[in-house]
Amino acid sequence: MANYNPASLDPAEFINNEEILATIEYAEQNKNNVPLIDSILQKARPVKNGNGCTCQGLTHREASVLLACDIPEKIEEIYKIAEEIKQAFYGNRIVIFAPLYLSNYCVNGCVYCPYHLKNKHIARKKLTQQEVEAEVIALQDMGHKRLAIEAGEDPKNNPIEYILECINTIYSVKHKNGAIRRVNVNIAATTVENYRKLKDAGIGTYILFQETYHKESYLKLHPTGPKHDYDYHTTAMDRAMEGGIDDVGLGVLFGLELYKYEFAGLLMHAEHLEAAHGVGPHTISVPRLKRADDIDPDEFDNGISDEMFAKITACIRLAVPYTGIIISTRETEETRSKLLRLGVSQVSGGSRTSVGGYTTEERPHDTEQFDVSDQRSLDEVVKWLMDNGHIPSFCTACYREGRTGDRFMSLCKSGQIINCCHPNALMTLSEYLEDYASPETKAVGYKMVETELEKITNFKVKDIAIQNITDIRASNRRDFRF
Ligand code: SAM
Repeated sequence: MANYNPASLDPAEFINNEEILATIEYAEQNKNNVPLIDSILQKARPVKNGNGCTCQGLTHREASVLLACDIPEKIEEIYKIAEEIKQAFYGNRIVIFAPLYLSNYCVNGCVYCPYHLKNKHIARKKLTQQEVEAEVIALQDMGHKRLAIEAGEDPKNNPIEYILECINTIYSVKHKNGAIRRVNVNIAATTVENYRKLKDAGIGTYILFQETYHKESYLKLHPTGPKHDYDYHTTAMDRAMEGGIDDVGLGVLFGLELYKYEFAGLLMHAEHLEAAHGVGPHTISVPRLKRADDIDPDEFDNGISDEMFAKITACIRLAVPYTGIIISTRETEETRSKLLRLGVSQVSGGSRTSVGGYTTEERPHDTEQFDVSDQRSLDEVVKWLMDNGHIPSFCTACYREGRTGDRFMSLCKSGQIINCCHPNALMTLSEYLEDYASPETKAVGYKMVETELEKITNFKVKDIAIQNITDIRASNRRDFRF
């Protein structure tokens, strides 16, 4: 860690093509090796440790063997362990967020993205600060507290100063009881200096999808523009961490390349961050390629079935137990339901993927990035989660209390989540129920809050949580958090 220098970092040192190919071969050779599979499953299981639980996680080779395995009983076991890990570290809470598209101006040539420079029929739009404010008010009126801002890469139209100004505007909007308490950022790879500016602006997670770890394909899929530089893109998280950002979010766009390759690459990237910076990725997103303006997903050869998608998610859960998994509204309600059980910890809700999409009555398509499959309102998503036994959480406390990076991981491992994240989830859910929920959602919600409060083991914490929820219900709010 001490001698580490991101400027001279060669991504081939940690995303090594030969190692990925050897991993895929090793996994293929061992996919029916039951003793090996059993030992890997044993290693993946959560182990009780005092009040808490620990998990060793898996190496990219071990996890790749599980991914290759097609013995039905073993796959069932993978799913069962994924559920156990999810329950042990995240309980039944699901964190809610929404994307906010700031600008679709882009100078890159990414062949799978409708924002690519050559697409002349998509309307180009960039929000003014007044429009950002209006979008934020609309998002606050839905009940959102956590956003992920999205923008194309365009140094003239969307320079870092523009992004910083937008972040500032977002945090400054206080409409009724609303507030955006955490802004995550999904913008193109940039410099250490710019990451430091983002950190100073108070961002939560910096998210950047690798799209594909396969260098040759990457170069073809990103034929022009600054994003063509595979090495610069692949070392972005190192620069972000060098710039002081503790929480980074990885992801690949499934459908572009062979999923086995991406899976191994993704885990090698996580292993590298852990080794080089002492902390792995805060989140991993699992987006799948979608239809969009000028984009036909059928033209890409590597689409994955829903079954394989579920298996990939479960294997990620086993490999990196302390990393959150995010699933967006690219997926249908049905797919999201299945994946929530297998380890997903964050979902978006009520999303619109167009620039300025939250302030129009109808869902606009002219500036949209991709088709949204789950088009339900946030209220419907919240109720659906609760009907399925999940607690929708609007909590942003860790980041505001400085529990980022390894400090969050130690909270996870100490078993204190039930006395910290759990009451925070219930208090923020109560805020949502009081301020934004429909009568049906409110009724289901308060029943859930009552039952879930009983699970808090520390009596003092429980008393404080009950008092705060009583205050919230009496509209005497405190924005209290553990
Ligand atoms: N411009 C930023 C960059 O270069 O990374 C990121 C912002 S972009 C709005 C967010 C992500 O959307 C991309 O990283 C890509 O994975 C995803 N995306 C692009 N086209 C897509 C499509 N047709 N279907 C699904 N996701 C897509």
